[in-house]
This record gives sequence, C-alpha cells and structure tokens, in this order.
Amino acid sequence: MTTSLPLKWRRNAAKASRQDQHFLALVLDAWSSRHSVGPVSFAISIATGIGAGAAGVALQMASRWPAVPLAVQVGIGATAGVLAMIATRQRFASQKARHAAAMALASSFLEASRDCVKLLDLQGHMLRINDYGATLMEASSPVELEGADWLGFWKGDDHDAAMAAFKCALGGTAASFRGSCTTTAGQPKWWDSQLIPIKDHNGKVIAVVCASLDISNQTRLHAELRTKSELMSEMEAHVQLAFFSYSANFEYFHYITAGSSNVFGIDREELLRNPNGWLDLVVPEDRVALQAEMGRMMAESSEGRAQYRIRKADGTVHWLRGTGYPVLDDNGNVLRIVGIVEDVTAEQERIAELDRLAYTDSLTGLANRAALLREIESRCAARKPFGLMFVDLDRFKVLNDTLGHLAADHLLRDVGGVIRGSLPDDAYVARLGGDEFAVLIGGVVDKAGLEALAQALLGSLSANRLQGGAGAFITASIGISVYPEHGSDHDALLSSADVAMYTAKKMGRNGYQFAGEEAARTIGDFELERDVPEALTTNQFFLHFQTIHEPHSLAVHSAEALIRWRHPARGLISPSDFIPLLEETGFVSDVGVWVLDHALRQLAAWRQASAMNLGISVNVSARQLGSEQIVRDVGRALKQYGIPPGKLEIELTETALMKNPQQAQKSIVELKRLGVRIAIDDFGTGYSSLMYLADFAPHTVKIDRHFTSKIEHDPTTQTIVEGIIGLAHKLGIKVIAEGVENAAQLDILRRVNCDYVQGFLLSEPQAPEGLMKQRA
Ligand code: C2E
Ligand code: MG
Ligand code: MG
Repeated sequence: MTTSLPLKWRRNAAKASRQDQHFLALVLDAWSSRHSVGPVSFAISIATGIGAGAAGVALQMASRWPAVPLAVQVGIGATAGVLAMIATRQRFASQKARHAAAMALASSFLEASRDCVKLLDLQGHMLRINDYGATLMEASSPVELEGADWLGFWKGDDHDAAMAAFKCALGGTAASFRGSCTTTAGQPKWWDSQLIPIKDHNGKVIAVVCASLDISNQTRLHAELRTKSELMSEMEAHVQLAFFSYSANFEYFHYITAGSSNVFGIDREELLRNPNGWLDLVVPEDRVALQAEMGRMMAESSEGRAQYRIRKADGTVHWLRGTGYPVLDDNGNVLRIVGIVEDVTAEQERIAELDRLAYTDSLTGLANRAALLREIESRCAARKPFGLMFVDLDRFKVLNDTLGHLAADHLLRDVGGVIRGSLPDDAYVARLGGDEFAVLIGGVVDKAGLEALAQALLGSLSANRLQGGAGAFITASIGISVYPEHGSDHDALLSSADVAMYTAKKMGRNGYQFAGEEAARTIGDFELERDVPEALTTNQFFLHFQTIHEPHSLAVHSAEALIRWRHPARGLISPSDFIPLLEETGFVSDVGVWVLDHALRQLAAWRQASAMNLGISVNVSARQLGSEQIVRDVGRALKQYGIPPGKLEIELTETALMKNPQQAQKSIVELKRLGVRIAIDDFGTGYSSLMYLADFAPHTVKIDRHFTSKIEHDPTTQTIVEGIIGLAHKLGIKVIAEGVENAAQLDILRRVNCDYVQGFLLSEPQAPEGLMKQRA
C-alpha cells in the first residue's frame, strides 16, 4: 500500500513522519473529494474549504480529543483555521496546492495528536501508525508495527469488542469501543478506540482508521476512585456510626452516610426524605435534654454533644452519642452542622457492667455499701420520704467462729435471699459487709407500714429456718430510720438506724426498733463501749463498799463491792448504766476479773488491819457466770490474796441465773466446791425466785429493796418478806434485806428475824478509807 501512494505526497512530507503524512493525506484526499461530513470533521472542513473558524475547529477537536490540552487544541485549530482560509481561497485551484495544504495539516495534526492513530487494511492489519502511537505502543518505531495484526492485540472480551467495532467500520459505519491490550513491551494499557471507515469515491470501504486514546491513567484513576468509594461505602455500611451534614436549625440533611441504617435502623434515603425520622425514635425521657442541647448549639453557635437512647423499630433500645459542629459563614452565621452519631450501646453496657461490679456485693449479689450510700444520697436529693432498715444478724460472730467461714458465707447468701424475698420488689436491699444488711423502702414510710415490713422480714428469717450450725436458727435485730425525720444524709440516717438496731439487740434481739430517744441514748453506749479498754488500763474504774450489818447490834458483818466509773468526759457513771452495756459487749468479764481482784485485795488489807471476820460480797454478771472461767478466776484470786473462801460471797441476780440456768448451775456447783458462798441478789424481782432456792441452794438471799421500801406501809409486802425469811431459814439460807433507809424498816426487819440489813440508813456505798473510819 505504501508503494501505491502517490509520489507527490511523499515529497511534501519533509518534516513530519513520512509514513504518517502519507496515510493521513490519503484519508484527507478521499474525504475531501467526497465533501462528506466524516468523523474527522475538522479535516473535512479544511479539505472542502467550508472555512470553519479556529474556535469551531478547536471545539470539534475538544469533543473528540478531550485529553489534548486546550492550548494545543486551540493551536491546532488556529493552524487549521488559517489553513482552511488559505485552502478555501485556493479551493480547487490546484490539486497540488490542495495536497500540500492537506499534507501540512496532516503533519501538524499528527504531531499534535495524543492518539495512537492507525490505518488498518480490510483484514485488520496495520498499514500505518503515527509516531506518537508507536511510542504509546512502546514500539521502537512505527515500522515495527507495520503489518501487525491489529485484532490480534486484543484478548477475550476485548477482542470481541474490537472485532465488532472493526466489522462495523467495514460495514461503513464508525464504531467505538473501550478495551485493554498490551503494548509491544507487554505492558497492559487501556484504550478508547474509534474506528472510522475510509471509503472510495463509490462509497466502498477501502481502509479503516483507528484512533485509540490511551486511557490507562484515567482508567486506573477511575478504578482507584471506585475502589476508594467502594471502600468508603463498605466502611460506612458496616461501622456503627454515621457522618452527617445537617442544615442549620436541623431541618434537613444535606448528606448522611449509609451508616445511618446501623445507627438508627433507618436507611439514608429515608432520612433524606424524612429528616426527623430519627428524632421520633429517641426515648421520651431523653428527648427533652437532646433537643435542649440542639437548641443550645444553634443559639451559641458552638459544638454540641448528647448521649441518648433510641428505641429502634425492632423494639431494641440503643445508646447513641451525637457530636455536632456548626460550620459558620464569614458573618458568624451557622451554615450547616456537620457531625457524627455513633452507637455506643456496647460501651454503655461495659460501663454498666463495671458499675455493676463496683457496686455489687460479690458474696450475695446484692448492692454493696458504696451502692447503698449512692442510692441514699440520690433519694435524699429527690426529697421524697423513705425508710432505712439496718439489719444485723444476732450472734453471727459466734456462728462464724463455730461454723467456719465457708459455711458462714453460705448462710449469709441465704440470708440475703430471704431478706430480698420477704420485702416488696421495689425495696432496695444491700449488704454492708459482715452480717450487716440494709434496706431502703420507698413508698411506705409510716411507722405501722415499716413495722409490718420489719416483722415480715424477721418472720421470713425464722420461717426459712436458716440453721447456723449447732441447731441455732438465725434471727436478726433491725433498726429503722426515716428520711427526713432522722437525718438528711446517709451518715445521719445510717447511724441513727444503726443505733436503733443496737437498741433492738439490747432489748433481747430478734426485734426491731425505730430511731429515736432510746436510740439517742444508745449513741452514748457506743462511745462508752469504745472507752472500756482504756478505762481498765488507766484506772477509771474504782470500787465503793457498802457495809452489811447485823440488825440488832448493827455490827458490820461484811461489805459489798460496788463498781464505779469515773469517765474522763462524762464524770461518775453508775453501774446500772454501764454494766448492761458491758454485759452486751462481753467486756463485763474483763471488768469482772478486775472487780474480783480489787475487792479481794481490799479485804486482804482489812484483814491485815485485823478485821478478820469481815466478809466481802462481789456482784457477778450473767455472762461471767456463763463461763467456767469465773471458777478459775475466783480460785486464783482467793489464793493470791489469801482469803478463806467462806469470806467471799458471790452475788448473782435472778436475771443472770435465768439466762443460762444449766451453765449457771455448773458454775455455782464449782464455786461452792471452792467453799465460796452464793447469794441470790435482788431476790423477789424475778418470775421464779422460789424455784431458784431449790435449784441453786444459795447460802444467802438478798431481798430486793423494792420490798424493803414498802414493808412499813404495806402489810402484804411485810407478810411476803416474813414468808421469804421463814422459808429461807427452813432451807438453811441466810437473808439480807437491801435498801434499808429508815428506822421503821429496820425495826420491822428485826422483828421478822431478818439476818442482815443493808442500806443508806446504815451506810452509803463509800471508798474503803471511809469504811475503815466507820468501823473504827
Ligand atoms: P445491787 O448489787 O443490788 O447493789 C445495790 C445497789 O443498791 C447499789 O447501787 C447501791 O448503791 C444501792 N443501794 C444500797 N442501799 C440503798 C438504799 O438504801 N436505797 C437505795 N435507793 N439504793 C441503795 P449501785 O451501786 O448503783 O449498783 C447497782 C447495781 O449494779 C448493783 O445492784 C449490781 O447489780 C450492779 N453492780 C454494782 N457493782 C457491780 C459489779 O462490780 N459487778 C456487777 N456485775 N454488777 C455490779
Ligand atoms: Mg449486789
Ligand atoms: Mg441488789
């Protein structure tokens, strides 16, 4: 084909590639002579001398070769325009001139072209390729590709597309396709190819021009963009958050990412249609605060944050956290609000779990102390009355010691369950630690209602028969305080309930007590209890002695040791006020040993001062009597101070005997075996005084001063006293009358044969020095 090109064309192609010029000139020649409007229309306009302007040509080029820079296009266009004018002027003047113009145009066009332009024969072989095209195809020169099978460059689908386009061009119609083929160096490239049929004068297709634009970069960019956008879409669709751009005033969304489906359960198209759809899902409790925050953002043009719950269409409740940033114009007006909303349900659940662990008692699963304090404070802040029950198990320490910790823990768990189960569902039950539980009751705050609940709780504990080993059933003591009556914070409420509980214990356990006056007094008890150890070591305790006399001669028979406590802050405290407290706490044993020691030491001193017949009476409490330790203590003290056992009389109250008769009996038998005398104190005040006479066979009974005080006015009392004395004497028991305050009483007692008398009439309890003077 090359050889068949006219010679004159070849000569005119001085500067440009001869090959390129040749085939383009051929094309132009063919087109121009047909005056047809072909695909390369600018060329036709030149050839036909229609004289399209430079801009028009440039525009036409731009539509075909968008990749060619505008300046180049305009340059080409201008050239074309000038050439067109020249060509028009000399139109058909000379065949040679026409060819020369076409050659020049072809040259500049091909130089400027960024296409791979090829002339294909009817079999699809490349007849020619322009220089730039050869470069794009990474060929060493256009010649390398001459004769190559153009169709053979395409593979697979691309081959089919190339074939289809080629066939189309062969049929006389321009066609285009996009596809990838490799260069001669094997590098894949993407092409956008246009195939234009070249026809002869008869309209017969004689060749096909293929102009392929290298769109590899563009394709790669598109692919990258597509990948990025797919990535973004995937991310948006799979994360639990959505980005948004909201109009000012939150009226509509400019944009929201696909994550809206995950966050709200509403897809973005729906939200774009119905911008308030998400707001309708917000639970009513959170909506007001959320809208307030949105309003504040707008009013202050500042960043806003909100955490709120939504109920999705499927009924599940989710925690969302939204953050919005207003975008302002130059005048500071809000243009839009951009932000992010994320599902923080998992985070909230984790926080809730941590919170649960921090505020749960691990043993019972109930609320712990910290949780209780927090709950009390929040209820106080709400200023609604509520009741607080302080529940303490009775004798738990003993159980813990005897059962072992594992079993005790088990027991505590059961107790927790029973307390929980016995109270209304809205009762807040907590374990404070050890055997202490607390309950908050809202709603019921009248005394009767709380009493009923306390009773129900105690009833449940005993009904459930939780056995704490050794067959002992669990009971509890309950102290009750009420907000705001007994305090306005957790400190006040807990301590008043605690004190009330303590009072309940003092009153015999397995009961309840309301905070109040009795409890207030008990606060003092707490302090006293705390002070006992120090009192023992710093000599705050001391003894007074009250003499006991023979009624006729009034000779001193013995002296009763009576303890006193000179408290550094409270002054002198009477034993009736602190002995029951020591009894409750167990300190009475330590104090009892101290009394025994000091009393016997004093008797030893008196004996040394020749009061060899003087006896001593020492009061012993129920708890002391409940342990065999008393026997050892007494034995040791007698020995230590060289006191004949018969000179010591142990005074036991009826209540002490009543508490644990078996153990008391055992201790009494042992004490008697030591040779110590036993007296029943406050005789007649108990319920079965006479029975004690038989059971314990005491050496002495001390008729309570209650009788003595009535003896002179009340004949019945006198008869009773007479009867007691008669009975006692029959049993070989001596009788002491306590509380003798006047001569009339003394007279009667003498008459009814009372063995000894004791009372203020004869002597008040006093320090040992005074007593010696009295004797002297
Ligand atoms: P108690 O053993 O019956 O002691 C007699 C109490 O009556 C003493 O009270 C005494 O001061 C008081 N008293 C004596 N004569 C009269 C009188 O004519 N009229 C009146 N109104 N009272 C009189 P105190 O010393 O306050 O002791 C009270 C109770 O404390 C004692 O009653 C005794 O049960 C207990 N107690 C005293 N010291 C001790 C002790 O060392 N150990 C134990 N466990 N209890 C003690
Ligand atoms: Mg006594
Ligand atoms: Mg007494």
